[in-house]
Amino acid sequence: MADSFELGPFRPPSEAYSLLIRATRNCPWNRCRFCGMYKGRKFELRPVQEIKQDIEAMKGIRDGIIGLAWKSGYGDRVREVAATVLNKPPSQAFYNIALWMYGGGEYAFLQDANSLIMRTNELTEVLRFLRETFPGISRVTSYGRSKTAARKTLEELVEIHEAGLTRLHVGLESGYDRLLEYMDKGVTAAGHITGGRKVVESGISLSEYVLLGLGGKEMWREHAVETARVLNEISPNFIRIRTLSVHEGLPMYQYVQDGGFVRMTDEEIIDEERLLIEHLDCESNYVSDHIANLLQEIEGRLPADRERMLAVIDRFQALPAEERTNFRIGRRSGIYTYLDELHDSRKHTAVEQIIDRLSQGARQVDERAVYKMMEGFI
Ligand code: SF4
Repeated sequence: MADSFELGPFRPPSEAYSLLIRATRNCPWNRCRFCGMYKGRKFELRPVQEIKQDIEAMKGIRDGIIGLAWKSGYGDRVREVAATVLNKPPSQAFYNIALWMYGGGEYAFLQDANSLIMRTNELTEVLRFLRETFPGISRVTSYGRSKTAARKTLEELVEIHEAGLTRLHVGLESGYDRLLEYMDKGVTAAGHITGGRKVVESGISLSEYVLLGLGGKEMWREHAVETARVLNEISPNFIRIRTLSVHEGLPMYQYVQDGGFVRMTDEEIIDEERLLIEHLDCESNYVSDHIANLLQEIEGRLPADRERMLAVIDRFQALPAEERTNFRIGRRSGIYTYLDELHDSRKHTAVEQIIDRLSQGARQVDERAVYKMMEGFI
């Protein structure tokens, strides 16, 4: 039996301990201007047989680690043995399986960007095989595009759910048509709603990703309000927040350089997030699980936690300007996670030193330096 398998380059942060199964290669759309994940890589469907062989190889490695636990006297304390393998993994494949086992061995994620694009019978065959091979897995998730979900019939999505897909991560990014077109997202607000609703109706748990800052200084209000409108129509299980970063090499990098797209500052993005939350009227979990989000503690269950979430924004905005700058730089340099850490004098002083260095004593930090820090950090 093979002791290696193919791995794709990405998974969402919430799938850090998931078993990663590469169902397709790269992104079939690959045109979004803000996304560099799969640029320059060709999309390919993988033969079902090949994916099954990978799953069998994963089982072989998993069984090997279990066998090692018994041989070395750990018995069923497999997690401890997985931790040892993680310290010195013989290969990337062993590392991935050990990490999955260390995390409890309960979750799986189908890579790459849009597994829904597989023929329904092939996707369900892979899902069933995965479930039969690893009956202990309780959650199987994947990325999918709204447009592809909209093209499937409800019956197909129900079939995919019954075969074992429990959650879908969809990049909504925005609900504002002009912005979706400008960014070449390849879907309209109406398409997002059709696809999203169908997924929810099929019983598959839906995570919709929103990209703060995507509207830039020109479209931020419409971006926030229309995104909230679309989310209200879908009522996804999760709304996951991301913040725009613009790395060199992205299609939109040139727009920024030419001045056609003017980026928002951190503080403006917080205004945008407030507007978004104020307009959200759906029953969803609002999750901020990305390091690029300035106020990662804005999380909760909507609508019940709305006021508590807005209070985090109030608290940040009520800080004196120097403290807001201190927090922003501390966040962008990885020193702070939460607002409360402003009271940690050791961290506060470390951030002050960075500000002095960046501003050469002038205490005014150039916004471009903040973007650079953020992009260097993520
Ligand atoms: S569909 Fe998703 S992965 Fe593909 S280019 Fe757009 S954002 Fe990137």
